[in-house]
Amino acid sequence: MAAVNFTDYDILGFDMDFTLARYKLVPFFNMVYDGICRFLVEEKHYDASIFHDLHEDKDLIYKGLIADFEKGNVLKLGHDGVILRATHGTKKLTMEEIEKVYGKNRIFGDYENFQNGLKSPDGKWRFFENYFDIPALVAFARIVDSIRKMDPGEERSTYVHIWAEIYEALEDMYKPTQCRANKGSFFPNMKAHTYKYIDKISPEIKDWLDALRQNDRKVFLLTSSFPDFATLVMEYAFGPAWKSYFDLIVYGGRKPKFFTESKPFLEVADTHIGLEVEELKEAGEYCHGNSTQLMEFFTRLTGKITPKVIYFGDNLWADAWPSKSLGGWNSVLVLEEMDAEGYVISDGTVKEQENTGGNSSLLDGKIRFEHSSLVTEEEIELMVSQFWGSIFIDEMRDNRTAEEKVMNTAFGDLISQYTDICVPSIEYLAGVPVTNAFTTFGTDRGSNKGFHPGCPKSLLS
Ligand SMILES: [Mg+2]
Repeated sequence: MAAVNFTDYDILGFDMDFTLARYKLVPFFNMVYDGICRFLVEEKHYDASIFHDLHEDKDLIYKGLIADFEKGNVLKLGHDGVILRATHGTKKLTMEEIEKVYGKNRIFGDYENFQNGLKSPDGKWRFFENYFDIPALVAFARIVDSIRKMDPGEERSTYVHIWAEIYEALEDMYKPTQCRANKGSFFPNMKAHTYKYIDKISPEIKDWLDALRQNDRKVFLLTSSFPDFATLVMEYAFGPAWKSYFDLIVYGGRKPKFFTESKPFLEVADTHIGLEVEELKEAGEYCHGNSTQLMEFFTRLTGKITPKVIYFGDNLWADAWPSKSLGGWNSVLVLEEMDAEGYVISDGTVKEQENTGGNSSLLDGKIRFEHSSLVTEEEIELMVSQFWGSIFIDEMRDNRTAEEKVMNTAFGDLISQYTDICVPSIEYLAGVPVTNAFTTFGTDRGSNKGFHPGCPKSLLS
């Protein structure tokens, strides 16, 4: 059976946000949502009452959904592009209502583009899979609700312009220049109350990174965050010596464009972005760049024509998909939702008594589903949704035998195609010897073999 062993790689790369740096999901989500709403009220003159009482829409909050900006709908897709569940704004739609909008077969019309790049070529839909923008999905759904309430009978032809305004809010928050300028609602909050939103990493993670670097293996950081913000996050999470854990640091990586475009690398010194560089150097810090030049550097660094690279990230669109399908790297997906849903410990990498966060339960008197002690009850509540069901499988479509529960959601399908293994956290990996062989998803679409320390609850009978 195919397996990933980290010591087989020449180079190991890491994403920062939600991968090496773990965010405190609930306060982070609330802060981002508040920032988006404040912008929409103050700059776009939306009625503040639209955005009240976020807890009422907890069930809508979920990773891996698609917003159809034309129709004002939120969709959960199957592996074949069939819409499994949907809302209009926050209102749950029946199968009949979904068929009325999308046709009898309930196919999402742009599924081919979704599969090929996870991005709408004309901005008519968006795949939401990270907590920097999922709060914007909630704001979108609520505005759709408010429009329908005003004109219940009227057929709207599009809500694309609503998303355009929300997108302005996101830009105002995340535009990299806002960090140094201390403007917008995001960076000033992150700077003033870093402790509220980010966890400090454990000594085990530092030891694990050191172990990965033994025997001439190299470790690099590739983040889309810019030098000033990345420095804030890493200094807080790792401490002042954070750079010493990496052989190369790339900021402003513009993933996934890092793999498709050929922007030059710019020098970075003391968080300031400087001039274009010809050649990358070990222990260097750079901004932007591209995967072709990076691979040339890795070839020089290792003396190997095709150095083996593996990349750890939390995003399918920005990390796993481009790493594997464009970069020719292997990929590890860090998916907190595994922890939220619970999994059975079955691969021998965790001793049961080490992993009792007080959230485990006994089912059938024998199978024990675990959540690590990292994830809080509040976070589980935010990540898990009764309405949307499991991120990996939808029982509405499940007609397979219990022994071979195959992932049948679009999200699950992408996991099995574009990641080699999927884990709940870096913290978990840091507790496993670096020489461990992790079984991969392999070539079977929908396979569940690559989950570690074991299979998510929904994929077991
Ligand atoms: Mg990330």
